[in-house]
Formats: sequence, C-alpha cells, structure tokens
Amino acid sequence: MDEASKPLNFIEHIVEEDLENGFPKEHLRFRFPPEPNGHLHIGHASSICLNFGLGLRYNAPVNLRFDDTNPAKEEKKYVEAIKSDVEWLGYKWDKECYASDYFQQLYDWAVSLIEKGKAYVDSQSSEEMAKQKGTPTEPGSNSPYRDREVSENLRLFEGMKNGDFEEGTHVLRAKIDMASSNMLMRDPIMYRILHQAHHRTNTDWCIYPMYDWTHGESDYIEQVSHSLCTLEFAMHRELYDWFLDQVRNPAQVRPKQREFARRNLSHTVVSKRKLLRLVEEGVVNGWDDPRMPTISGLRRRGYTPESIRNFVDTIGIAKRDNLIDVSLLEFHLREHLNKVAPRVMAVLNPIKLVIENYPEGEEEWLETENNPGDETAGTRKVPFSRALYIEREDFREEANRKFFRLKLGGEVRLKSGYIIKAVSCTKDENGNIMEIQCTYDPKSKSGSGTEESLRKVKGTLHWVSIAHAISAEVRLYDRLFVDESPDSHKDRDFMDFVNKESLKEITGFVEPSLKDAKPEDRFQFQRLGYFNVDFDATPEKLVFNRTVGLRDTWAKIQEKT
Ligand code: ATP
Ligand code: MG
Repeated sequence: MDEASKPLNFIEHIVEEDLENGFPKEHLRFRFPPEPNGHLHIGHASSICLNFGLGLRYNAPVNLRFDDTNPAKEEKKYVEAIKSDVEWLGYKWDKECYASDYFQQLYDWAVSLIEKGKAYVDSQSSEEMAKQKGTPTEPGSNSPYRDREVSENLRLFEGMKNGDFEEGTHVLRAKIDMASSNMLMRDPIMYRILHQAHHRTNTDWCIYPMYDWTHGESDYIEQVSHSLCTLEFAMHRELYDWFLDQVRNPAQVRPKQREFARRNLSHTVVSKRKLLRLVEEGVVNGWDDPRMPTISGLRRRGYTPESIRNFVDTIGIAKRDNLIDVSLLEFHLREHLNKVAPRVMAVLNPIKLVIENYPEGEEEWLETENNPGDETAGTRKVPFSRALYIEREDFREEANRKFFRLKLGGEVRLKSGYIIKAVSCTKDENGNIMEIQCTYDPKSKSGSGTEESLRKVKGTLHWVSIAHAISAEVRLYDRLFVDESPDSHKDRDFMDFVNKESLKEITGFVEPSLKDAKPEDRFQFQRLGYFNVDFDATPEKLVFNRTVGLRDTWAKIQEKT
C-alpha cells in the first residue's frame, strides 16, 4: 500500500490538524533520532516507519540524527550499523546529522542562559543534590549555589569546559523551580564534566550536554516540525518546551514534541542495554545473531524489509504500551516469503531409499516449478536416480489410514517424479531403520500425461538424489526466551528465562541447484519451511538458517498448554 492511501494514525491526525490551523506544509520536517549505543531493534522499526512514513506521506524531508551525547556508551561502529539498518529497511534520509555537531551552539546558548540568570553552576556532590530533589508530593529545596553571581557562574562554566576540574566536581543546572510538581523541572542538569574522548569530537570537549538539553535544541537547529518520541518522554515535554523558550527566535519553526507507545515484542527483549548483555555474556553470537530481535539479526535470519514494514503497519501507532505477539511478525514474514521465495527440495533428517527396479547408474533430470503461485518464476530441473534421501519422519513400517506418507506396502508420489511403493526396510542391530527398499511405476512420471491419465496417490514427498545432493550446515532456531515477557518479572532477571536450546546445528542435504546460492538468498525448502543462506557460507560450504516454519506451530502448542 502506498503511504498516501494508508489510514491516518493519531500522530498523522495531529499533523493534519496543524496543517488545517495554518502550519505551512513546506515547513514539515521529521527526524529519526537514535543514540549510537547499540544496534537498532524491532521496536525502533516502529519509530523509523513512523517518521519516514510521515516524510513520504507529506513529501517532507526526514533527518537521520544521531543523539550522540554520551561518549561513555557510544561508538562509531554503531553509527555505521544504524545507517545500514535504516537503508536496508528501505528509507532514505535527507540529512545525516549529529547532536555533537551542535556542541558549540549548545555551549553558546548555555552561556546566554547563565547571563540571563537562568542557569548556574552547582558544586555539590550528586548525593547532596539528590537529597534536595524532594519527592513527587514534597517540593525540593534550593541548592546553596543557586544564587551564585553570573560572573562566577561564567568563570566556573568556562573552567569546566577548559578541563580545569575533575569529573563530579561541578555541573551546570537550569534555574527553573525546585517546587515544580514535575520533578524534571527541579533545576535539571544541563552539563556534566566527562574527561572522555568522543567518537566524533575526540577530546575537544570535556563537558557533555545532557540528553534533555540537547535533544530539543537539536530539533530546533534542524527546524524539525514534529519531534516524535516514546511515552517515557511525556513528562519531559514541559522541559523540552522550557528549553526551547529560552533560545527560540519567533520567526523560526518551533518543534512540537508528541509521544507514542513503545512497541514490545513477545518472547524477547527490546532494549539496547539488555541486548548488549546478551552479546557481552555470550548468550548469542553478536548483535546480528539470527535469534536477536535486532534489525541486523532479523535480516540475517532471512526477514525481508517488506515483511517488517507490513508488520509495523499492521500494529500501527498506539497511545498505550502493550505486548505484540511475535507470531504476528512471523505471519507477515511467511506472507511475503510465500510470494517471493523459490521452492527447492532439501532433506534435513535423511533416511536412504533405494528404488530397486530403477536401473543402476542411470539419472534423469525432472522438471519442477520454482514457485507454483507465480507463473513468472519458471521451472528448473532436479536430478533423479536410484538412491535418494527422504525425511526419516516420512516413513513408517506400519501406520493407520491417516498417515499419507510412506509405509510398507503403501504408495506415495515423489515430488515432480514418480509414484513409488515401499517394499521392505533394513535395520541396524538396535532396530533403527537404515534403508527403505521401494519399486517405482515408470508410467507415473509427473507431467508425462494428462491429469486424468496419471494415477493419483494421497501423499507427496520431497526428496534429493544422494549422488547429486550437496551437504549443508543448517541452523535451526527456537525462541531466545522461554517466557512471553522475560523482562516483566519483578524479582527475576530476564536472563533467567533464556532458552538454552535456541540453536541446533545439523547437516542437511539440498538439491544441486543451490550450489551457487549466495548469502541472503531465500528459499522455501518444500514441506519444511523458509531458509536463507547465512553470511558464514563460503563457496566450499553452504550454511543455511531456518527463517521460519511453514505454519505457526507455536500458536498450536500454546493453545494446548
Ligand atoms: P533502548 O531502550 O532500546 O535503548 P532508546 O529509546 O534508548 O531505546 P534510541 O536510540 O534513543 O533508543 O531510540 C531512537 C528512537 O526510537 C527514539 O525516538 C525512541 O523513542 C524510539 N524507540 C526506541 N525503542 C522503541 C520501541 N520499542 N518502540 C517504538 N519506538 C522506539
Ligand atoms: Mg534513548
């Protein structure tokens, strides 16, 4: 669906109202403002689609702004990862901006606030300041430094900037109201001393502006018209507005902050801090591990940008926090992969099957469709021979009439091939079936006659020819957490709910057409699910990830329990 024909969400209603009230359409501008302290996750996708979606709907520019005010946690590698994730999701930003580019301007404004008596240097310890904060129901008390002379404040603030003081000795605070009912308005900190190099400004600064002071002013510098953030910032809006009032030129656009609900996904965590723990404690193999809810993890798992955008569109923008079931994300993934993923045959739990009346040493190449739902997808040939692999689960010595797969004395069709009949099987000394012996009906070849002239059997099995198949490493994933909402338990750490069996590596066999498959190529392994080629694959060794099963087996399990 194109952007303009989608129904309006509540944020878009706010924009519409502003336009109706005379806000000039050409002044609309949006931004997506990540802190470069980790990789983006599925929650961020909501914010990305919202902001860039507004840009598309109103043909307005959208900035990618890095809110890089915390050198202790931020790194250049995260900047690069974020850019590549936003691009992969299919969005183009207008300007690439950094709050750190505004450090000088922010400093100059801070000086002007001091001059106007609206900011002061506080030289107490953070413990002392905390004691004066008050509580939501009791007012705070003033700092003994609150009425420092402007000249002393200027001198100290400059000293802070020049590196004359140790960390923690002074902070710059806005002088607002220690009795405000909004705790955030009780003389919030604007600057702290941090003798730490920044990934962009290096050692130019040893004071760093706080997020609240930086964020709104950055919006203003960029002339962002609508500054959209998540609900935890609702109480910050008053401060956002206060800071703007101190610096704003009335001829310029005044950014408007509005809040929407954070998106949470079931069976995972969406917080960079928590995801970082999974990485650092080795629970997963990096930020892009296919079990991670990061954009890079979903990408590596085989998700398509379209499926993520469709999911985000479906859940929409909400005013209240809630938990979205991950099976909805998987539903959108299947929907899209069903359309675009070519069908191929692979056997993941093989058992050997020998067709005793098929000539030894002979092979034939059978034509098969690449995607029955898409005529333009064409056909390919798969090799057939006397010795095949089928799935172990597809054979039973005895089974009731509802078992439409292969059993002794029974018949099935081999996909795009012949009808076979199981005659006998051989076992090892422990009773495990090692081989199935069959006969085939040479007149039953798929596509060799009219629909009517061909015999019909109930079951169709996928298979590969042993002599032609390629062995591949296949990584099977399960949910990363065994709990629906691992970080919502009061007295438990979310790490307690990690699923210890979320990754299983097996060797499977795939048809030879996959020989040259490249990382990120996606396939449907017939009857098994969707798989993609992992970045670890080499020309010598194929590696696949199971992206998602064909059906939502999870939902069924949940119903039963
Ligand atoms: P995290 O807790 O994962 O670190 P964050 O809010 O600190 O998240 P930012 O880099 O500041 O991460 O986020 C950039 C933008 O994405 C912000 O506007 C933020 O509100 C939004 N965002 C972050 N997480 C979510 C989420 N789960 N759902 C919707 N929007 C989100
Ligand atoms: Mg944040």
